[in-house]
Amino acid sequence: MQWETVIGLEIHAQLATKSKIFSAASTAFGAEPNTQACAVDLGLPGVLPVLNAEVVRMAIKFGVAINAEIGHESVFARKNYFYPDLPKGYQISQFELPIVGKGELPITLEDGSVKLIGVTRAHLEEDAGKSLHDQFPGQTGIDLNRAGTPLLEIVSEPDMSSAREAVAYARKIHALVQYLEICDGNMQEGSFRCDANVSVRPVGQKELGTRAELKNINSFRFLERAINYEIERQIELIEDGGEVVQETRLYDADKHETRSMRSKEEANDYRYFPDPDLLPVRVTDDDIDAIRASLPELPEQKRQRYIAELKLSEYNAELLSGSREISQYFEAALEAASNQAAALANWILGDLTGAMNKSEQEMSFADAPIAPQQLAGLIARIADNTISGKIAKEVFEAMWNGEGDADAIIESKGLKQITDSGEIEAMIDEVIAANPGQVEQFRAGKEKVLGFFVGQIMKQSKGKANPGQVNQLLREKLKS
Ligand code: ADP
Ligand code: MG
Repeated sequence: MQWETVIGLEIHAQLATKSKIFSAASTAFGAEPNTQACAVDLGLPGVLPVLNAEVVRMAIKFGVAINAEIGHESVFARKNYFYPDLPKGYQISQFELPIVGKGELPITLEDGSVKLIGVTRAHLEEDAGKSLHDQFPGQTGIDLNRAGTPLLEIVSEPDMSSAREAVAYARKIHALVQYLEICDGNMQEGSFRCDANVSVRPVGQKELGTRAELKNINSFRFLERAINYEIERQIELIEDGGEVVQETRLYDADKHETRSMRSKEEANDYRYFPDPDLLPVRVTDDDIDAIRASLPELPEQKRQRYIAELKLSEYNAELLSGSREISQYFEAALEAASNQAAALANWILGDLTGAMNKSEQEMSFADAPIAPQQLAGLIARIADNTISGKIAKEVFEAMWNGEGDADAIIESKGLKQITDSGEIEAMIDEVIAANPGQVEQFRAGKEKVLGFFVGQIMKQSKGKANPGQVNQLLREKLKS
């Protein structure tokens, strides 16, 4: 039997407001437990929620960026359930009328082709508190600081058919919310969380299989692993005569497995109803147009501009527009070396990314030890023939180690390329005189020996002789 996978993602992006969605309490991360939840967040009697206008603007920004229909009237609803970290007994969310309706997002697949992933909806809601299971032996602590923190829940269509595609989509959303400056994207702190709905079905079958929802995934690497584990589990289960049950499963990264957490509630278990304390949110076309006009250049536009204007390859354009940080680095470097887009792309995606990956602590482009202007300075010296590409690697390493700008390093280490033809000729003469055997071989037609001579001269010049000149002068001398 051939199986096919179906995946839909629910992403919770914490909106980067200073205060909560319905109260003035702070949303800052890391405060002492229970110091940032006010009476409104706890739903104490006699208080009323007041909507934070900023969250509406942020949600619309997102909606416009994925070409979605924006709800001109959206409604907050109570989602009722009991849990210790939800003292109100309900979460304020949106149900029938979300702020963002159907939209779409293109992802680039490994073979370079583009696939459109549908976004079903994105709605506003408040976060719950947190249960702390590991701080008091035998007891559970409750920290309500997070209660009332604004979230945008982004629900995809079940359009992805592999873990790779799901990760590509999640990364795209992750990059987009950061470009839009509506979410800091910090997965460790839980500002960006993915739940994956996974099902399998025999190839060719129309209707969807029963899905499991995977929670507790806090990195893209784990997202891919959790989905792949779950696909295998479901296929094995069905092939052994079992049946997948609709449930929520927790991913355990240490054991690399998913475990059943609870059977899945149906929407009607939540007894959704419009929150009587909050008015419907009305948005006009003018509001939407104003927000659209304020958007920064988005990843997809950047990608296309990099290809059309900067003549970058599809692959490099995709990578350099893939996150706000890398595009900022690239564009800052480009400002300092405007006609060197291709060389910059190669250095950023090659040597710089390589060095960053090798470094011991996790490193972002914002704190790379080589500033974009410094990298531009190095590339300018290659372009004007002051150094060869090979020597440039040495300069790069010195810059990485904090030894200064390219010019200073080239000067202090004496790395300037030798382009004086007199000097190069003198070296050639010496090498020719010392190797009469090889000279004879070359004259007898063995072209390959040329490489030997070039090597000798580069060695003698410590890599500094201009390779083009060496080749040309060497040929002339050997033939004469
Ligand atoms: P719920 O509100 O119970 O979480 P939804 O119908 O809103 O359920 O769907 C949640 C997510 O699950 C969506 O991203 C959707 O695309 C995805 N999904 C729904 N059915 C399936 C299925 N059979 N297989 C995989 N994903 C699915
Ligand atoms: Mg759900």
